[in-house]
Amino acid sequence: MAAAAAATGAARSQLNKGRSSRRLPVARVRVAVRLRPFVEEVGNPSESSCVRGLDSCSLEIANGRNSQETLKYQFDAFFGETSTQQDIYVGFVQPILRHLMNGQNASVLAYGPTGAGKTYTMLGSPEQPGIIPRALKDLLQLTREEGAEGRPWALAVSMSYLEIYQEKVLDLLAPASGDLVIREDRWGNILIPGLTQKLIASFTDFEQHFLPASRNRTVGATRLNQRSSRSHAVLLVKVEQRERMAPFRQREGKLYLIDLAGSEDNRRTGNQGLRLKESGAINASLFVLSKVVDALNQGLPRVPYRDSKLTRLLQDSLGGSAHSVLIANIAPERRFYADTVTSLNFASRSKEVINRPFTHKSFQPPVKLAPKELMDPPEAKRARNQEELEDGTGSPESSPSCPKLSPLKQLDILEPAVQERLLNLDRILGSRGSQGTSVLSTPRRERTALEKALKEKDSEIQRLKEKYKELEAHRLSQKSMELENEENGSLAPLHPPPSQTVLMTKPLHRVAPFQQIQEQTTSQDNQVLKKESRKRKPEPGGQREERAEGLRAALALLQMPPDLLAESRRRILGLLNTGSARELRRLQRIGEKKAQLIVGWRELHGPFAEVEDLRRVEGISEKQVATFLKANILIFAAQCYRDFPRKDP
Ligand code: ADP
Ligand code: MG
Repeated sequence: MAAAAAATGAARSQLNKGRSSRRLPVARVRVAVRLRPFVEEVGNPSESSCVRGLDSCSLEIANGRNSQETLKYQFDAFFGETSTQQDIYVGFVQPILRHLMNGQNASVLAYGPTGAGKTYTMLGSPEQPGIIPRALKDLLQLTREEGAEGRPWALAVSMSYLEIYQEKVLDLLAPASGDLVIREDRWGNILIPGLTQKLIASFTDFEQHFLPASRNRTVGATRLNQRSSRSHAVLLVKVEQRERMAPFRQREGKLYLIDLAGSEDNRRTGNQGLRLKESGAINASLFVLSKVVDALNQGLPRVPYRDSKLTRLLQDSLGGSAHSVLIANIAPERRFYADTVTSLNFASRSKEVINRPFTHKSFQPPVKLAPKELMDPPEAKRARNQEELEDGTGSPESSPSCPKLSPLKQLDILEPAVQERLLNLDRILGSRGSQGTSVLSTPRRERTALEKALKEKDSEIQRLKEKYKELEAHRLSQKSMELENEENGSLAPLHPPPSQTVLMTKPLHRVAPFQQIQEQTTSQDNQVLKKESRKRKPEPGGQREERAEGLRAALALLQMPPDLLAESRRRILGLLNTGSARELRRLQRIGEKKAQLIVGWRELHGPFAEVEDLRRVEGISEKQVATFLKANILIFAAQCYRDFPRKDP
């Protein structure tokens, strides 16, 4: 069949989703992780695993930085080593196909390092067919039924197959055609003029075009995989519909099935020269994809589709009214560890650090030999069971003589204050729906770990609060001193600076609450802080010492809990992305010139993806960004405290 421009459908798709989809709420990208089993040809079978599934949505991985901790990730679905091709297809992909019949778009993307199972998941083998053959079979069946004689719509299915290699779009059904351009019509539909499009009426038709084209794919050898894919393979299946009776409407749904190129780190694959260049291009595309998925899932106003060929192509099928699923493929072998963590971070922007070592056998700490251990073994065991029951750390199930306790009964043996806290925590977690797990029904040992974490958090919060109060008291006293000086028309302080002891003995309730820090810092008064830092006049030794002390406290504060830090950064980013030049000037270290530069950059490039992107603004140096962050995080953290007041423990 002659090459048919993909553009042909464009003009008649006026009734299509193009424009209207833009008005619909942007759809989230659903994310699943698939852990493949150990594969002999890929790894050393004696290697141990560093990943473990927890339930149908979450998994944990050893924390490379701290062997006492694991990192827990939560996704829309998690498919473990024993999951079958059918499980993934039925659980995650099949449900989106019906949307194509309504003229909506969909996409399925397999992400992950080379060797982690992307091609297996998408394509599979004749014995274990993957998503592509299964989806094609179902879609063809569905269209046969929906388009049967006597039904209101006539349907036609067509396919195109392309690859994106080093940011070039190549037609795998017509390899000679060279780099193709991606265009957008005035209804927002993305199309590739000149891309071959083959009508397929049966699965045999599909195979006839698909199999030889697959062989045209650019493959190269890296140290990781003999037939490593260096390009993104994109199979496009279009379902076009024509109404058989007036008003003879037409609609079109597109399905993208994508086997992405490997996301591995260049340094690890030992790639050089052309391979390194390939990886660079691949990673640039994957980098933008991660930003796009992030922006969609966070509901950011600007989604950087145009920053890479891959995302530009997917613009009308990722977000909008489209239904998109991403399957992050990971491998269990330890040597994949770094890439696995990168893939998991790409797939999920949130993770939790769990305070327990990663081990396959048990989380139980080694039992110390106590005098009881020197008793007769059965007696010793009984005594230990009794002791464990009393301190709430043992496992009654392990002893046949010990009756199993209900979760609430186990709660009884805890201190009343701890009981109360657990019940509160349980309520909070319970109110988070499926994301939360009931603390009361968690195993005893994990509950103990939770309690411990809770206590640590409490003391951390307390420590931080005290630091804030100390700092604020210090700042207020500095300010009042300056005001007094100004009133007295004197530059040098008339009174000696208040000593640390004085600050500490001030009743804490007289110290300004956190909201005042924010109000003051966001009001013009805030300039006092700036003036302070600009005045480089010699100052008395005591005052200088205090400033140094204040600075030390500020630096200590920067080691704040990760969630507070993250929230603080998020807010700074929000202001950077939405604030007017005037609002931006309220930020520490941002004067009129920098505010203008930021606004200008934003107009040109869209919002900042992260605060560090300030570096990209011409005229703002990396060093200035670091100083900016230090100065503002503190203030925003105080604001977070104001917004989410925590009860004193
Ligand atoms: P990628 O496309 O990510 O480079 P592959 O799909 O080629 O990885 O998988 C690498 C190897 O692992 C292949 O031999 C493949 O058959 C095997 N494999 C991957 N996932 C699974 C799985 N879920 N079950 C069994 N074998 C798998
Ligand atoms: Mg592959």
